[in-house]
Amino acid sequence: MIEDMSYVALCPKCHCVIAAIVDAPEDRKEVAKSTADWVNRGFALNRMSCEEVRTAKWCACKRPKLAAPPRRLFDE
Ligand SMILES: [Zn+2]
Repeated sequence: MIEDMSYVALCPKCHCVIAAIVDAPEDRKEVAKSTADWVNRGFALNRMSCEEVRTAKWCACKRPKLAAPPRRLFDE
């Protein structure tokens, strides 16, 4: 089985995950919008498997809320 890939925004301070979106072909527009938004905010972009995102450390720094949070979050 091919693993799903995601784009993640990384905190410039602690390098932990701030936001993630599944790189699904049917969501290409949404993915492009979110990743462009993250870059505008100065976050580093990375690509990792969904499994890696689930086990990654998430950022706990104080920061302004994302105006448009990605729809597909990992909330298990
Ligand atoms: Zn952080």
